[in-house]
Amino acid sequence: MNYLKNTHHAWKGDQYMKQHDYTCGYCNRHTSSNKGLSLYENQASSSQVANYGVYVCTYCKMPTFLWDGIQIPGSKYGNSVMGLSDRLSGLYEEARDSFSVNAYTAVILICRKLLMHIAVDLGAEPGKRFIEYVNYLKDNNFVTTRSDKWVDSIRKSGNESNHEVNIGTREEAELMIKFSEMIIKTNFEYPALMEKTEE
Ligand SMILES: [Zn+2]
Repeated sequence: MNYLKNTHHAWKGDQYMKQHDYTCGYCNRHTSSNKGLSLYENQASSSQVANYGVYVCTYCKMPTFLWDGIQIPGSKYGNSVMGLSDRLSGLYEEARDSFSVNAYTAVILICRKLLMHIAVDLGAEPGKRFIEYVNYLKDNNFVTTRSDKWVDSIRKSGNESNHEVNIGTREEAELMIKFSEMIIKTNFEYPALMEKTEE
């Protein structure tokens, strides 16, 4: 998403703001920027309020508002994965986008949907319960053998019935994205890479 990289548009603002380190929500890279628009106490003030303001990413040039622990847009969690069908990649990216706006319950629900689709793509029967799909992935070794603890906590979080959905925490959302990432990397991205090298 390098909308601004190769155009003739330019940001005009403070060229030397107080530096701010953050992970850019657009390109996902860690940047240390001192360009953008700073916030001042008032019109007459000449010193920037801490390192607050709109910062421009040094890589993709997209703007991020940073103020006292707030980052808009936030950074996504997890890494992008190649070799996925449009449906799987759509769900996975939507989960990561939801994370960047702190919508953790949405992350968890989307990841459950994603894991169900993954299981069906890998041969499970449609129309089962979430837990049964987690078991399917585990029993058929689509989940690495050393991640039992993970599988247990995913099972636990998925054990509530649909009408009593709990509000998801950041930790649960991170777990769901990491778990999904691991499964789609090992079962889709790496096999797709192998097929490419064999060509
Ligand atoms: Zn960026």
